[in-house]
Amino acid sequence: MIGMDETYRRLCERQKRTAVLSSVGAVLHWDQETNMPKAAAAHRAEQSALLAGLTHDWATDPEVGRLLSELEDGGIAQELREKTGGDGAHRSASGAPAPREDELSDAAVNVREWRRGYDRATKVPRELVEEIARTQTLAHEAWVTARAQKDFAQFRPWLEKIVDLERRVADCIGYAEEAYDALLDAYEPGMTARQVAPVLGRLREQLAPLVRAIAGAPRRPDVSILHREYPVAAQEAFAREVAAAIGFDFARGRLDVVAHPFCTELGPCDVRITTRYDERFFSGAFFGVIHEAGHGIYEQNLPAAHWGTPLAASVSLGIHESQSRLWENFVGRSRAFWEYWFPRAQQRFTALAGVRLDDFVFAINAVQPSFIRVEADEATYNLHILLRFELERALIRGELKAADLPAAWNENFEKLLGLKVPDDAMGCLQDVHWSGGLIGYFPTYALGNLNAAQLMEAARAELGDVDAMLRAGEFAPLREWLTRRIHCHGMRYRSARLIEVVTGRPLDEGALLRHLNGKFGELYGLSRD
Ligand code: ZN
Repeated sequence: MIGMDETYRRLCERQKRTAVLSSVGAVLHWDQETNMPKAAAAHRAEQSALLAGLTHDWATDPEVGRLLSELEDGGIAQELREKTGGDGAHRSASGAPAPREDELSDAAVNVREWRRGYDRATKVPRELVEEIARTQTLAHEAWVTARAQKDFAQFRPWLEKIVDLERRVADCIGYAEEAYDALLDAYEPGMTARQVAPVLGRLREQLAPLVRAIAGAPRRPDVSILHREYPVAAQEAFAREVAAAIGFDFARGRLDVVAHPFCTELGPCDVRITTRYDERFFSGAFFGVIHEAGHGIYEQNLPAAHWGTPLAASVSLGIHESQSRLWENFVGRSRAFWEYWFPRAQQRFTALAGVRLDDFVFAINAVQPSFIRVEADEATYNLHILLRFELERALIRGELKAADLPAAWNENFEKLLGLKVPDDAMGCLQDVHWSGGLIGYFPTYALGNLNAAQLMEAARAELGDVDAMLRAGEFAPLREWLTRRIHCHGMRYRSARLIEVVTGRPLDEGALLRHLNGKFGELYGLSRD
């Protein structure tokens, strides 16, 4: 066994070195988005390309593959087979033996995930990787022009090419059922379209009537409250106070201003969140900061002792997004939360003088079907995602031609949201994802909302009166619960299994629908029958 221990130690050392190199790239990217002078762009591109190339070379070094095989031959593969009921994937839904990932050794978890990453990085030939990189750059330019001119025809040939390239990637990586699964796996390891589709389908069936009911509701919020004068300095001070209160640790993190907000982890004690301010709008920066702080709290509470290994990495985008959405929507848009924070906000913003708490809570929860996903409210947001998931899956399956995308988009959009799409810029050209080859990414946004809802119900069941805690400004119990149940595991569990372990049942749409129907039913005065 000493031989195996030595092999594992050598693999860990290599992989951690690669993680350190990769984190240097993250520093450069963060700097580029926050502080870098414009004129530095060309040199920065060279720095980033060099680092990306080196990181890729280190990650795909044949020695990594050799060490992995040695460990797998030495028994870890057998452990993975025995304790996960097969290939490491979650399969209890199909009746196969229930996975026992909780019994896996740390080494087995790391080897499983390193193998997955190594295979994904090495199975696609270099020529294809280079062709994809070239295509993405050109497709992105074509997309920018097409969107500005509201002319899908200019983007169509690029979308055709991207769909073709992504299908080839899927074939290289391999899949059991459909090519889309290999693409989804990049963002949501182990998840398949067949698992996601029924949940999203049922969500769609029940969300659309809720949104219609809200449109015909007797009560309307006064959203003008949120579009008054909110000085940037006061917005920043307030957002920092709230982010710190819910648990974002500013001793191990920063908040900066960018054009397109994100959260990035630069090391075990260094998590950067970002936002942008609009002096005439309260919600954008405030809920943006709470959202990114939710991502940041996840990163800050991964087990630092395992840094650089999968045991200290996030599970998937869908789990990451559940952490941001839980704080943003389930906590940050709740009445209980504002019972504590509203008087404090009134001290900072004269715009809120004389505003009633109920009117403010109604305003921050306004539902209004609209064309643009990134501006969508909590109720309609998921409908935007469902549309994209169904269309991109059909593109990859070959059931939908790129040329027919605008018509399919517009028809389904009207069915879902009751609005006639005026042009492709407001329709199928609005998102950057497809031009960048990010097919399989969209469902993780909806998974984030579904996971957050189910986790919040579990937290309420275990912690007791969570609303009373929020009303008292006590956020530590909820944050610590998330750390105990989600953060501390790193990638030990695949997302589907993690949700099942934490909440006692597989992911379904029930919790999210209960949350949305309950909250909006009450706010909008909808009758329940
Ligand atoms: Zn997010």
